[in-house]
Amino acid sequence: MSDTGLRVVWVYPDLLSTYGDQGNALVVERRAQQRGLAVQRTDVRSDQQVPTSADIYLIGGGEDRPQRLAAERLLRDGGLSRAVDNGAIIFSVCAGYQILGREFVNDLGEPQRGLGLLDVVSTRGEAERCVGDVLADIDGELGLPELTGFENHQGITHVGPGARPLARVRLGKGNGTGDGTEGAWNDTVFGTYMHGPVLARNPQIADHLIKLALDVNALPSVNDQWYEALRKERISAALQPA
Ligand code: GLN
Repeated sequence: MSDTGLRVVWVYPDLLSTYGDQGNALVVERRAQQRGLAVQRTDVRSDQQVPTSADIYLIGGGEDRPQRLAAERLLRDGGLSRAVDNGAIIFSVCAGYQILGREFVNDLGEPQRGLGLLDVVSTRGEAERCVGDVLADIDGELGLPELTGFENHQGITHVGPGARPLARVRLGKGNGTGDGTEGAWNDTVFGTYMHGPVLARNPQIADHLIKLALDVNALPSVNDQWYEALRKERISAALQPA
């Protein structure tokens, strides 16, 4: 963290920001400010360079064509990869998650190179889109409560040996491979299919990102009453029979 505070970058809001994913940046900002941290947030559009020295980068979901353009530009820019080399934390959703992987299938039906920051490969599912509520148990190593969110994607993501599944689904499709996995992570890079915005529904994930960025094991506690009420409501709605 710099003297000016926690540096948070929202990557390509003009191309990748479906289902209110921008809320993820707001939640990280808010949770850090509640701990008395100054936050310097930068929204980097796709015609701008990605800064390489920020602490946390957030990247959202998108439609197929903007996803192709975003991947091309991010690869050309190279900033996100340099940021990871500098120790940055990246949290990505849906299209953003696929872009961080090694390869995905684009809107032209062609395999397209991703940034290779997460050992995942995405193909296009032949069956119907994965759409609906998701409940999943997060990898025990992360010590986080159950994951709640909703998904809407055609892509199917295979997690390679260099990454771990972020969670195991109890409800919903997640990575869509039929193996019950959802999302992927390595030490500093996280990917999920969850919208919600997912960090509003799962604020402890936002706290985890902040802890990693600050290199601390704990943060002062904050009043989670409203977040908890939202979580309970969404979890019980997801569990209602259709
Ligand atoms: N275009 C991607 C897919 O359908 C991602 C969709 C999204 O980000 N919601 O798999």
